[in-house]
Amino acid sequence: MRKLAAGNWKMNGTAAALAEVSALAQAHPAPACDMLLCPPATLIARMADVARGTAIKVGGQDCHARSSGAHTGDISAEMLVDSGASHVILGHSERRTDHGETDAQVLAKAEAALKAGLIAIVCIGETEAERDAGRTLDVVGTQLHGSVPADATAANLVIAYEPVWAIGTGRTPTIAEIAEVHAFLRARLTARIGAAAADVPLLYGGSVKPSNATEIFAVPHVDGALVGGASLKAADFGAIVSAL
Ligand code: 13P
Repeated sequence: MRKLAAGNWKMNGTAAALAEVSALAQAHPAPACDMLLCPPATLIARMADVARGTAIKVGGQDCHARSSGAHTGDISAEMLVDSGASHVILGHSERRTDHGETDAQVLAKAEAALKAGLIAIVCIGETEAERDAGRTLDVVGTQLHGSVPADATAANLVIAYEPVWAIGTGRTPTIAEIAEVHAFLRARLTARIGAAAADVPLLYGGSVKPSNATEIFAVPHVDGALVGGASLKAADFGAIVSAL
């Protein structure tokens, strides 16, 4: 399977940040992995213009479950496609927390994304309290089963395991902990979508940076990363791309 380095810009970036996209494209004209940047919705179309003809793909950070209608402030999967996006991040823990998104809502959004022809990056991950209580596998297994469309395939699904307590904190699970969760997710995904699960990229996310990328990418069933802070600068993200 082709590996994936995905950057989640979150609520960061205005037009000036597009210079980083050009720099990344120039430095990595033919990377060994897929490169994806997911900017705020306001930048998707302009980033897609900059990325056209380069190795960089562009994605959204959320979409609505419906294709159009009276939903002020929301964006549909069709609109993301129209703006030049190929992927969409769904069920990020910041959306589950800030907007109360449930597994059922993430599932509905993922179904809409697949229908529109997008690749859905479904995010799951335990809180620190859940890990301390020994509930990590239970929590991520339930989220995966509840958020991933049963008819998803290796061509339209990516899973991102992001422990909530590792996001933006500089803390990461141990290599053994990442290995345990990713092996478990591969098995649970097989139960959910069948044999196609073997070729679905499983990303790790949470404080990935150039200095820890190589050891994280060596873990079995880690097929790339979903990177927050370190995706904002071409030099940092490029170093992570080179580690894959
Ligand atoms: P950081 O890489 O900043 O920890 O963020 C991870 C993340 O939430 C990516 O979606």
